[in-house]
Amino acid sequence: MIILVGASATGKSVVAKQLYEKYNIKKVVTYTTRAMRDGEVNDVDYHFISKDDFINKMNNNYFIETAQYHDNYYGTAYEDISKDKVLIVEPNGANVYYEKLKDKVVIFYLQASEDERKKRMESRGDTKESITKRLESDIDYFDLSKFNHIDLVIQTEKKTIEDVADIIMEYYRNIFN
Ligand code: 5GP
Repeated sequence: MIILVGASATGKSVVAKQLYEKYNIKKVVTYTTRAMRDGEVNDVDYHFISKDDFINKMNNNYFIETAQYHDNYYGTAYEDISKDKVLIVEPNGANVYYEKLKDKVVIFYLQASEDERKKRMESRGDTKESITKRLESDIDYFDLSKFNHIDLVIQTEKKTIEDVADIIMEYYRNIFN
């Protein structure tokens, strides 16, 4: 399984979309309690559920892993995990998957400058307040020292999405084929 991690607006979702379109690597749709952003689609970007529903599922052992990030819950269902899929998680999630699945996961860390990420967040319509909050907290939260294991760091800023997806697939296939 491919795991993508990176601070807000480093390109994780668009890269995952490209992996699907070019390589038929399906994205693991995770669950979240956060509000939908403009343009997001339920059951495609996330399964958007209420906090009560999330807690209920968590208590019923529905999730292989859960996380809390900016007052919202995120989680992945056991039944959605399989080979040749891509999963986007925050750093704690990457560490949990590495501990649980070891060499079955390949972890890619996507990077882009703060200026570029700010621009991307503005253009996707994030509020000023949420942009400031995320840029500030991501500095520490996504620090490379937080990770127990990363396979490859990819700078996305000067590359096209296609190039990033190609780099990921080449690396992944070298390991699994
Ligand atoms: P966003 O709200 O920007 O879509 O996502 C916030 C963070 O939560 C991102 O880093 C995203 O990758 C992560 N995330 C989404 N689903 C899950 C999940 O199921 N588990 C974990 N650990 N992180 C998740």
